[in-house]
Amino acid sequence: MQLIEGKVVSASVLDQVKKDVEIIKEKHGITPGLEVVIAGDDPASQVYVRNKVLKATEMGMHSAKHELSNETTQEEILGLVDKLNNDPKVHGILVQSPPPPQIDERSVIDSINPQKDVDCFHPYNVGKLLIGDEDGFLPCTPNGVMAMLEHYDIETSGKHAVVLGRSNIVGKPMMVLMSRKGKYANSTVTMCHSRTQNLEEMCASADIIVAAIGVPQFVKENMVKEGAVVIDVGINRIEDASKKSGFRLVGDVDFDNVAEKCSYITPVPGGVGPMTIAMLLKNAVTACCLQHGITL
Ligand code: NDP
Repeated sequence: MQLIEGKVVSASVLDQVKKDVEIIKEKHGITPGLEVVIAGDDPASQVYVRNKVLKATEMGMHSAKHELSNETTQEEILGLVDKLNNDPKVHGILVQSPPPPQIDERSVIDSINPQKDVDCFHPYNVGKLLIGDEDGFLPCTPNGVMAMLEHYDIETSGKHAVVLGRSNIVGKPMMVLMSRKGKYANSTVTMCHSRTQNLEEMCASADIIVAAIGVPQFVKENMVKEGAVVIDVGINRIEDASKKSGFRLVGDVDFDNVAEKCSYITPVPGGVGPMTIAMLLKNAVTACCLQHGITL
């Protein structure tokens, strides 16, 4: 069994991002910029946003965060996105999910200039992804998984991949990326969700499993074929009295019992997690290049 280490793969992506930022600054006199909007005080979201801004700054980018209160209005958030859409120093805009319940998240995403949509959530970019037009952005977490497969030179062509979960953020784009034409793709993908029958058998027949359902340690030993590749996107908190915090993070895969059967497996934490932010910053560089007609 080989561990797929997110830290190693993300470091190589970030290394390239840093180099690209330097080239853009030196050759074109432009600093790629990423600004993040966060509404409300969800502690996990606050941590994610802080990390994104810090990492962007570390890469030599311009970065800033805009904090709105829990009571923010649709008008206020749309007004801010409009301002960022028109700010030439901002190449990428990210609105941290989830916003407070009074906000219609869909219309906020729709209001982001597609050229600045570094999360790749805007319908324009989702459509481009679906038709295989890849001169724009790819969604961060699924594209991070693809980068891991490539980094470890994992054969995917003709393989049966089972994607667990059908969210717009992970499951659906994951299915599209794995089934598209090309190297480290060309898989035959089965997408499973909460209404899937025979889900265990489906998983047990998979060469590659990508788990993204948000159910702690859901994928058990009997659901994994000998030699399968298992990618665990899940990040779940479970109680753990032995920890100071009272909890620990686990994935959607029962790692301790599944790992031995796998040819490759991602840990949680330290697997897919670090990839998301690396791919986000890569998208911010792409956004800058798109807006200024720069070819790297
Ligand atoms: P969502 O809650 O949006 O979607 C969950 C999906 O899993 C749904 O399609 C749901 O089915 C399906 N599902 C839920 N329970 C079951 C079950 N028992 N059997 C089969 N399918 C089930 O989650 P996300 O896609 O946003 O996130 C999934 C996980 O990935 C979470 O743990 C999240 O924290 C993590 N995540 C990690 C990221 C990273 O950077 N590593 C980034 C984004 C997410 P249905 O549609 O039928 O309801």
